[in-house]
Amino acid sequence: MEHEQQHWHTHSYKQVAEALQTNTDQGLSPDEVQARLQQYGENRITTKKSQSSIVRFLLQFHQPLIYILLGATALTLLLEEYTDAAVIFAVVLINSIIGYVQETKALKAIDALSKSMNTRATVIRDGRQSEINSLGLVPGDVVLLQPGDKIPADLRLFAVKNLQVDESALTGESVATEKSPETTAGDTLLGDRLNMGFATTVVTYGTGKGLVVATGDRTEVGKINQSIASAEELDTPLTLKIKKFSHTLLWVILSLSLLILALAYLRGESLADAFMVAVALMVGAIPEGLPAAVTIMLAIGVAQMAKRRAIIRKLVAVETLGSANVICSDKTGTLTENQMTVQKILAGGESFELTGIGYNPEGKVLFKGQAVDLSEKPALQQLLTAGLLCSNSRIVEDGGRWTAEGDPTEAALISAAEKAGITRQQIDPQYPRLDEVPFQSENQYMGSLHRHEEQTLVFLKGSVEAVLRCTDRALDKTGEIVPLDFSAVQQAADELAAAGLRVLAFAFKTSDPDQRQLDQKDLSEGMVFTGLQGMIDPPRKEAVDAVSLCQQAGIQVKMITGDHALTAANIAEQLGIRGQTENGRLLALTGLELQGFSDEQLQEVAGAVAVFARVSPDQKLRLVKALQASGKVVAMTGDGVNDGPALKQANIGIAMGITGTEVAKDASDMLLTDDNFASIEAAVEEGRGVLDNLTKFIVWTLPTNLGEALVILASIAFTTQLPLAPVQILWINMTTAVLLGLMLTFEPKEKGIMDRPPVPSDKPILTFPLIMRTLLVGTLLMLASFLLFRYELSLGASLAEAQTVASTVFIVLEGFYLFNCRSLRRSVREIGWFSNKWVYVGAFTMLLLQLVFIHAPLMNTLFHSAPIGLDSWIRVLGAGVGLFVLVSLEKTIRRKYTESEDF
Ligand code: ADP
Ligand code: MG
Repeated sequence: MEHEQQHWHTHSYKQVAEALQTNTDQGLSPDEVQARLQQYGENRITTKKSQSSIVRFLLQFHQPLIYILLGATALTLLLEEYTDAAVIFAVVLINSIIGYVQETKALKAIDALSKSMNTRATVIRDGRQSEINSLGLVPGDVVLLQPGDKIPADLRLFAVKNLQVDESALTGESVATEKSPETTAGDTLLGDRLNMGFATTVVTYGTGKGLVVATGDRTEVGKINQSIASAEELDTPLTLKIKKFSHTLLWVILSLSLLILALAYLRGESLADAFMVAVALMVGAIPEGLPAAVTIMLAIGVAQMAKRRAIIRKLVAVETLGSANVICSDKTGTLTENQMTVQKILAGGESFELTGIGYNPEGKVLFKGQAVDLSEKPALQQLLTAGLLCSNSRIVEDGGRWTAEGDPTEAALISAAEKAGITRQQIDPQYPRLDEVPFQSENQYMGSLHRHEEQTLVFLKGSVEAVLRCTDRALDKTGEIVPLDFSAVQQAADELAAAGLRVLAFAFKTSDPDQRQLDQKDLSEGMVFTGLQGMIDPPRKEAVDAVSLCQQAGIQVKMITGDHALTAANIAEQLGIRGQTENGRLLALTGLELQGFSDEQLQEVAGAVAVFARVSPDQKLRLVKALQASGKVVAMTGDGVNDGPALKQANIGIAMGITGTEVAKDASDMLLTDDNFASIEAAVEEGRGVLDNLTKFIVWTLPTNLGEALVILASIAFTTQLPLAPVQILWINMTTAVLLGLMLTFEPKEKGIMDRPPVPSDKPILTFPLIMRTLLVGTLLMLASFLLFRYELSLGASLAEAQTVASTVFIVLEGFYLFNCRSLRRSVREIGWFSNKWVYVGAFTMLLLQLVFIHAPLMNTLFHSAPIGLDSWIRVLGAGVGLFVLVSLEKTIRRKYTESEDF
């Protein structure tokens, strides 16, 4: 079989099917699919890496702080201090390797997570329709398309119905293309090949079928695959702040170094010594471990969130989640179970009740408490039949559990019909379907055209507003057509909605017997109203708790839904959502009302009101913008074809992993694998935990650098020898960052993490109290190290011994201070001495390593260290305990005098 030809569009689809040796009705057989998979490989487009590994590794050196270290290496080489030069360069290298490995890991993790949510495709194989992972597509497969689908491979289209495709990804043309199956001329451009669907473009409207003509790299987009190079973004506001901080630090260090050299020159000291001091300052003031630690912590956040069913697609979301202060959520399926059961029916002016649970069709339709006889209730029979015919779903039993296959709203209607004895097997053959107008959220209705004996019938179902617009007559209880009493129907519908039921209205008409196709305009008038079905969709139990946790945490929860205002308000009340009320009930605004507001008015309303009903996707976008204009950090969910812009606009766009369209997933920052609101709350919690631990790490790490810089400055001020050699400083910075600092990543989330308000997104990482603490600890480190260094010398110790004591001071004091940093505010006793066992593991390992540093001859050569005595150790440990006590005291005092719960 030869399909090197590029001109599929010039042939009829029958010819194409023949060339591909497939059948448009039956599709391929499983054996044939296997064979073709062997031949063509998986339907995967090789993405060009945006940067090669080597470039990414070299870029690790492209950081101001690394420049300094490279400068220091050069200087020490000039001074012929070869061991020092080697050690400093080794640190640069290790740093870059760690940075590279971390970055690769983070990229891979995110990549793997988003890949785990692979594109799905609906295919016909062996005559049966099924959903598969689009990686398994082969040429010759028959693919079904519907709105929201990303076209999974290059297709020759046929059976097209109002199909519109957004091909901007491929052609740059932003207006959706209306497709048609006709054969086109040979030389048409891609954008004009109306009978083709191209991989990665998106169905925005209508339906269609297509034959796969090319997969993977043989698709049009595969051929120009640069255009989809994956450029993962690892920058977040925090990493950017750190980058900015590094730049400032670079200049500070350079100026100080120049100052030191000038001083030495003026004092007539040896320039070689002055250079060594400058080098010590350079390496000391740089927080080498910081950038890697931030990436590691964010990556751990990604993993933690994935465990709680939130898949992060953009690293920045981890951080933003921690400061989110508004969550706008869909109602159906996210806040509710999406388990619909019809409970109330209104037909021919009479009301009926239904018994039974879930989709299980065991139950009764009752009229005044008695089981009904359908032959006496023609309007009811008509209504239930319409519910079954005008739907594309089924209910299936699996081990005693009944589930919906397809739209849950429709499944509820089918279950209701079966309770009255009306089944698909019996009805479908009597009313063969000729055509349909599919349901679209924006239209709020669906229509279908059926043949019944000599008649052609149109059925319509949808929201009460949508159906009443097209209706002028109604069926009465005897089955006669009578004028419609609008206000009575409206009132009945409102009553059902106010009780929290989702209401669908139904209508029908007989049409021209020759009609074969159904259009929207056929549904727009002359319909006969048959009745209403009201279904419950209970709130998710977990959502009730999650809503309350969010509100406790100062995060507003808003419900945005396409459903009726009264239904939405009732469910919102059941969930405990707080917002503006009216006459003691939660106020729900409709999309229509929103349209009347100016941007300023909307800004006010969006803040106060919690429930928005009958909202269209573009109004969602306006709502996000309005909320952001008043300074909110907005998380918003979406699943539909047209939710993309709102998801992109939101600070955190959240797509539904199960029910979401590919378009929504593509536009999102985060996916929920269970579509559950509770998972958003969990992600926020994790995000707050990550931010907390990051702050702890920073507060822990900066005093070391400050202390080291101060020690060196002190040695200049008092014109003594250097208490810390450059290589010793590097030793301290590298080992403590990994063995001590990183243990803070294992710090469990603090109690009450959801009891405090969100961190404003513009709040600096280091607030005033934390800056003060950094200064305090930095000074204490300097004092302890400098004084003990001098003391050792005064006792007659060698320079190496005194320097070893000075370095050990840093290591030991950092170890004690680590325990202070386990909580920024609380005492260790309060958070539990043993709630993070890793700090002990780290501290113990650090101690062992320091013993090696002190006693191993090789280390003595490399790091100019020397064995020290027990009494020196006792003094150092004493200083450690002293620091711990002082910082604990500072915390207690500060807590007594500051109101704020967090800093
Ligand atoms: P949401 O998902 O926020 O509940 P939808 O956009 O799905 O909102 O539904 C809006 C309205 O459209 C519903 O209140 C209902 O009246 C109507 N509707 C929902 N599903 C269907 C369907 N399959 N066929 C016809 N009408 C529907
Ligand atoms: Mg819906």
